[in-house]
Amino acid sequence: MAIQYKTLDQIKVMRRAGLLVGQTLEMLRTSVKVGMRTDALDAIAAANIKRGGGTSNFKGYHGFPATICVSINDEIVHGIPGDRVINDGDVVSIDAGAIIDGWHGDAAFSVIAGSVDPQDQKLLDVCEESMWRGIAAGSVGARLSDIGHAIEDYVKSQGKYGILQEYGGHGIGTEMHQEPHVLNFGKRGHGPELTPGLVLAIEPMITRGTHKTKVLADDWTVVSTDKSRGAHFENSYCLLPDGKPFVLTAIDGGRERLGSLGVEISDLIQ
Ligand code: MG
Repeated sequence: MAIQYKTLDQIKVMRRAGLLVGQTLEMLRTSVKVGMRTDALDAIAAANIKRGGGTSNFKGYHGFPATICVSINDEIVHGIPGDRVINDGDVVSIDAGAIIDGWHGDAAFSVIAGSVDPQDQKLLDVCEESMWRGIAAGSVGARLSDIGHAIEDYVKSQGKYGILQEYGGHGIGTEMHQEPHVLNFGKRGHGPELTPGLVLAIEPMITRGTHKTKVLADDWTVVSTDKSRGAHFENSYCLLPDGKPFVLTAIDGGRERLGSLGVEISDLIQ
């Protein structure tokens, strides 16, 4: 399958979907509480996506039964919300997406509920920063593998973390998952050159231990084989005709975090 390059007008619609995802995740971030069931988070997301004029791209995706993924501790991604109660100190990873007028947004974050173990906090901080560095490296004129290289390079510089190998980022547009697949590791200088119109979801998934995973009997939940805790951060970003990026699922378009890495965002969209 070929990469779907988007026009500026199409990306403007994708921004509406991305902003709704970003706002929904912000609402979820402030909603996560010790003692709460994970399906309560799902209900909050479903209501907010509906209120924003979107529909869920997760619900029904290959039979996925919920609006968001909620993954706790050694669950890294694709956890199904349900009657599980969030405990003090849990690492809670939430992945959400929405469709507006046929265009998709997809993003994720991890947060700690209640008491914070500094080692868990560092895991989250490293994962999040690696995502921003991946986006910063994925500039116009770079090659696709430069993104994964930047992610791996940063994660490895911070300690002994496992980077998941079987899961990665992806193109996004009129489907949630499009070409190209974006590895979270690798050498620089491989794959297609990045050009305006490209829209990618960048999503490092790392653990405090192994990179090895297995899928639980529910056929969805991805856990680390050594039960080490994981983190997952994701944003969907685009490259625009002025040669600059814009992070569609970040409320500020990525201005602050990309700015801290010396990357200026586009002002072609808001
Ligand atoms: Mg994704």
